[in-house]
Amino acid sequence: MRYISTRGEAPALAFEDVLLAGLARDGGLYLPEAWPRLSPAELNDLRGLDYAALACRVMLPFLGGSIAEEAFAAMVRDSYASFDHKAVAPLKLLGAGEWLMELFHGPTLAFKDIALQLVGRLFDHVLKRRGERVTIVGATSGDTGSAAIEACKGRQAIDIFILHPHGRVSEVQRRQMTTVDARNVWNIAVEGSFDDCQDLVKGMFNDEGFREEHRLSAVNSINWARIMAQIPYYVWAAVALGAPERELAFAVPTGNFGNVYAAYAARAMGLPVVQLIVGSNRNDILTRFFASGVMEIRAVEPSLSPSMDIQISSNFERLLFDLLARDGRRVAETLSRLRNEGRLPLERGAWQEMLRLFSGARLDDEATKRAIGELYRDTGELLDPHSVIGVVAGRSRLKDKATPLVALATAHPAKFPDAVEAATGVRPALPDRLRDLGQRPEKYTILSNSLEEIEAFVRQALAMRGAA
Ligand SMILES: *Cc1c(COP(=O)(O)O)cnc(C)c1O
Repeated sequence: MRYISTRGEAPALAFEDVLLAGLARDGGLYLPEAWPRLSPAELNDLRGLDYAALACRVMLPFLGGSIAEEAFAAMVRDSYASFDHKAVAPLKLLGAGEWLMELFHGPTLAFKDIALQLVGRLFDHVLKRRGERVTIVGATSGDTGSAAIEACKGRQAIDIFILHPHGRVSEVQRRQMTTVDARNVWNIAVEGSFDDCQDLVKGMFNDEGFREEHRLSAVNSINWARIMAQIPYYVWAAVALGAPERELAFAVPTGNFGNVYAAYAARAMGLPVVQLIVGSNRNDILTRFFASGVMEIRAVEPSLSPSMDIQISSNFERLLFDLLARDGRRVAETLSRLRNEGRLPLERGAWQEMLRLFSGARLDDEATKRAIGELYRDTGELLDPHSVIGVVAGRSRLKDKATPLVALATAHPAKFPDAVEAATGVRPALPDRLRDLGQRPEKYTILSNSLEEIEAFVRQALAMRGAA
């Protein structure tokens, strides 16, 4: 199994190198050269397996033999052993023909744990074997930072520095990061905005000397291994609801398009998926694109579902690669036009091809609150502001009501307690293991919005750690 770049100029790599590289050298995203197939007989064989066993089988072909099966199976089991629900990704009946797949039972209460728990272990495994180590740096406005920290804490071959905007993340989100007690984890509260944090991270990567000296790396959502680790739950849901015989549709609240792209990958492997419905908030570049065939960049506005507040969905590039007949040069040209002109009309044929599978709907904050309230009244379920957008989008765009619909719940309602309480009058409680989060000691360093100051901090922290 080799991986190729969506821009066609970077060398094909094996799994391990793609894992550690993240972005390809030509600026593209890595994809498998060909999709491994899950035949109907193999899908039948998956029925009855527990989540970790099924996930291991689904992912194994992507490794191309670079990690021994036993070691991989142990990593997968370990990744999901600490989840609060023994099914890992339980399916709940929401209404007739409608299911909710809860992906928030991991350590930080959002679906990102499912991929990152495994990716942290994969990094550590590969690096240890090579006798190498990396420094992961990242910026977060909330969810990703805590999931990355939980995935990397205590791992021997990794140090991790996460920047968040001081005073601008919710208390639950901050505490999920700053109360982690591990010697390889550093939280930096930057006196600035989330954009400043992102610019500082970019600045560190662009400082070649610094980047090489500390072997900087990232675990952002364009990393192929994160997509790979999200494929199994689509297979899991489909098999539970009758695949390969029975077709189904998924509804996915979408930001960077990573999650729903994993569904596309599962379908490319042979899963009988007939519709992929994306939900967006007011930052609706994707749903406008599906409606018009024109991708158009607008300024990002804050919403009740901050993990979907994006300007351009970075993983969309992977779908574009297929829509443009896997021609890397056309992908590169198309994307540079989008960056330069702010607009990208897709060829009519490619757009119509896309609409055979994809559709989208948007919900603004008012509609989101209303939907949380209505869903609670009708079903007794408390949904967070991201998940509810998927449910509503799915209901409004499902073509054939006889097709089972699975809506993905991407965050626990207690992660966004204010919005949920405002909509329902009920304040969702944190799971038991996090009840004392508000009393745990926090550890973070406040630094000014200065690349020099941040780099000096990282350098000193790593030197002290090395000396200890
Ligand atoms: C990250 C995130 C999303 C968006 O997922 P993408 O893979 O970026 O499309 C949706 N909901 C929650 C709760 C998230 O944390």
